[in-house]
Amino acid sequence: MVKKSIPYGKQYIDEEDIQAVIDVLQSDYLTTGPNIAEFEKKFAYYVGAKYAVAISNGTAALHASCHVAGISDGDEVITTPMTFAASSNAIVYCGGKPVFADIDEKTYNINPKEIRKKITSKTKAIIPVHYTGQPCKMDEIHQIAKEYNLIVIEDAAHALGAEYKGKKIGSISHMTTFSFHPVKHITTGEGGMVTTNDESIYKELLLFRSHGITRDVDMLNNKDEGAWYYEQLKLGYNYRMTDFQCALGISQLKKLDNFIFKRKKIINMYNEAFKNIKGITIPYQEEELDSSWHLYVIQIDNKILNKDRKEIFNILRNAGIGVNVHYIPVYYFPYYKQLGYEKGLCPKAEALYERIITLPLFPSMSYSDVEYVIDIIRNLISDKESL
Ligand SMILES: *Cc1c(COP(=O)(O)O)cnc(C)c1O
Repeated sequence: MVKKSIPYGKQYIDEEDIQAVIDVLQSDYLTTGPNIAEFEKKFAYYVGAKYAVAISNGTAALHASCHVAGISDGDEVITTPMTFAASSNAIVYCGGKPVFADIDEKTYNINPKEIRKKITSKTKAIIPVHYTGQPCKMDEIHQIAKEYNLIVIEDAAHALGAEYKGKKIGSISHMTTFSFHPVKHITTGEGGMVTTNDESIYKELLLFRSHGITRDVDMLNNKDEGAWYYEQLKLGYNYRMTDFQCALGISQLKKLDNFIFKRKKIINMYNEAFKNIKGITIPYQEEELDSSWHLYVIQIDNKILNKDRKEIFNILRNAGIGVNVHYIPVYYFPYYKQLGYEKGLCPKAEALYERIITLPLFPSMSYSDVEYVIDIIRNLISDKESL
């Protein structure tokens, strides 16, 4: 038998996607052409936001959002430790201080009660992360933001297509960021997006993405120069996406709902297989919320299963199953330690980290591969029962 090799996540690219990229490569504009605005328009429409700004990747989208939120030296921004380092790094890029609030034990998302405990006179913003695609408690978070006059930037790298009480993620906060890395819901290789409903935020994002330079006559100081004229108003970056990336994004966006549908089918198979197994906790889903299922994360109880997480992880990897752990609490990393963060800060996130394993989940995963993963895990359990 050929050895299995199932990744934990993978892009889905078809002929239509490939053709869309080729068409741009044969056209006049590889960058700053018409595909960027088209991708932004279609993306904004999909999530129900007024504006969308394409940015070179999800991390740059977070950086742009923190900058436009006005985060600067000494400002505190509250976020979760159960995330990819980028959510927190973006705060540091701007001179801000990440303040980690603990998670809810059931959803693994940032807990609004814990956010409240972390607010000080220096708090400027909150960055909730919709872990695995399940939306955070946004009503509670917006309430806190209103009381303390804070900006809310949602990190929705996992949550494209997810819904909070009937509204698509991307339509409800000051800014929401997305990523198009190949393991995410749709891909452009590298790519990202910020959505907003606020015109002034939108304009600031455009400036930040392209050196702080504008040709918009309304924004120029000197309005009497010729057609060549532009001004750099602020310090920005080159955080643009290319036209061929955006063409791929436009093509991928058409398939997004099908991708999510397929993810949900796989989730149902996993949930059915594991829901009655003692020692495994399947993901908890809140009513009124619709997760877009970026990741399928189970908790392993090593006392019941008689094997620790590392052993189980290795057995699954040796069986060709690309399991992973999402996430190591951000402040565990040496870089953050050196900034002064210590273990013990968020006990619930730390306890969760000891127990989680991410199983493979992606739209092109075959049902027989899903069955294979389920069988291997079931065997682990019966192993234990025969002891
Ligand atoms: C992937 C991811 C990012 C970063 O996105 P990139 O496009 O890889 O820069 C940020 N936050 C979270 C939660 C992510 O999963």
